[in-house]
Amino acid sequence: MEQVINFDFKNKNKIKKIVAVMSGKGGVGKSTVTGLVATTLRNAGHSVGILDADITGPSIPKLFGVNKKKVFQTEEGLTTAETVTGIKVMSLNLLLENEDEPVIWRGPMLGSTVQQFHDDVVWGELDYLVIDLPPGTSDVTLTVLQQIKVDGIIVVSTPQDLVQLIVNKSIIMANRLETPIIGLVENMSYFMCDKCEEKHFLFGESHVKKVLDEYQLPLIAELPIDKTLVSLADEGRIELYPSTNLTFRDEFGKNLLSEIEKI
Ligand code: ADP
Repeated sequence: MEQVINFDFKNKNKIKKIVAVMSGKGGVGKSTVTGLVATTLRNAGHSVGILDADITGPSIPKLFGVNKKKVFQTEEGLTTAETVTGIKVMSLNLLLENEDEPVIWRGPMLGSTVQQFHDDVVWGELDYLVIDLPPGTSDVTLTVLQQIKVDGIIVVSTPQDLVQLIVNKSIIMANRLETPIIGLVENMSYFMCDKCEEKHFLFGESHVKKVLDEYQLPLIAELPIDKTLVSLADEGRIELYPSTNLTFRDEFGKNLLSEIEKI
């Protein structure tokens, strides 16, 4: 006889705050920043989950070195994988037979999958669920944000971006969803040379502060191009990154925690 699984267990999940990480386009470090946000919250003693809604390029499992063997379908729903420090992770990559094959999906299906990740996954009790949104501020991102009511948005940009444009678009989207923007992270802001210990602004001086002042939005941090971050991300050990005590990492953690408390 066919086994019927009852998917109506929404109330079993008790998630206090949902934070979404958004970018203007792909490749700017949105998933990496999602990983750092979750890790920072976890290190501060919170219970944390990551919902990888970047369905067509899910990279969260790789950043944390978790794999699909840890995910099970139970009567209560789909269980999550868990990272070394206990962050719960759900990603399409944990469910696919062959994670190297591209997934070509249309918008509505994508939206319903993300909603299932929210509703039908056994998250349990969480202080924070961090969502890695699809890249860009297009319909796909909007669809996800319409499915799941988030409490705040973190925007990631790089100095090459037209930051004014991204901030404008994010504000329009946030207003439409009646969701506050927590702040902006400028990633790959500069390069710190090993030899001279000076900041090199490879893409020219950033305009981010001026733009954010104009809109009265907080700058969470300017993160440099950092080879330690790349190696830890490649090795699936991103959780080790915040414990290395460089000024910009402290600043990221301090600002993030103080801004996130306001939502
Ligand atoms: P997105 O989610 O926006 O597509 P990713 O987080 O996947 O971007 O990052 C894209 C690539 O850039 C990855 O290889 C990642 O390791 C690298 N990267 C991200 N942030 C930094 C950084 N601050 N310094 C160096 N490399 C970075």
